[in-house]
Amino acid sequence: MEIIIKKERRQSLRLSVKQQNILCQVPINTSSKEIDSFLSLNNDWISKQHKVIKILYPNFLSDTKMLWLGQWLDIVVSKGKPDLIIDKQVVVCWDGDKDNKYYLKKLEKIQKEKLYELIKKCTSSHPITYNELKIKKMNASYGRCHSNGNLSFSTRLSHYPIEFIEMVVAHELAHCIEMNHSPAFYKVLKSLYPNYDVIHKQYKHYLQEVTYD
Ligand SMILES: [Zn+2]
Repeated sequence: MEIIIKKERRQSLRLSVKQQNILCQVPINTSSKEIDSFLSLNNDWISKQHKVIKILYPNFLSDTKMLWLGQWLDIVVSKGKPDLIIDKQVVVCWDGDKDNKYYLKKLEKIQKEKLYELIKKCTSSHPITYNELKIKKMNASYGRCHSNGNLSFSTRLSHYPIEFIEMVVAHELAHCIEMNHSPAFYKVLKSLYPNYDVIHKQYKHYLQEVTYD
């Protein structure tokens, strides 16, 4: 995890998350002192992002825990043919050959399988039709309903509790009826997910930097 400084033709300094790192874009003639003071001004935001990146990209060969469906599971490394198994704990079979990227790829596959299962279950209990369901790496949002009726959800949802996932699913399904966030939209949403207000309040902190569209 590092902060990548990129000098480019632009007017102002900007911070964003780029996969496992923080990207700081600055105008070409910015001095190191200016960059340092910009970074220290944004220190709180940066440390919050570090925590999020650590959840989204666990290091299976050095971390001891991984957040999965809202629970911190122990990571146990065992010898054997390289594999990653998530059950009551996360078992990492390591033969000394593979690096963390290999396990992150495996995690992505497991995330997609689990989320397809959960989201299909949630959507089937609501009488709303949608087009196609996709699960992919989305950094800026948890879910999205496209104008053609396709729904996409972020693999990062797999780290959060099932009721949070259900709330995001209900939100996107409600967009299949009402595209904007009007009072009519919330009426549909609350009919799909009566517990919306409670769950939304309970997990507000998950929605501070990343939200749904
Ligand atoms: Zn929305």
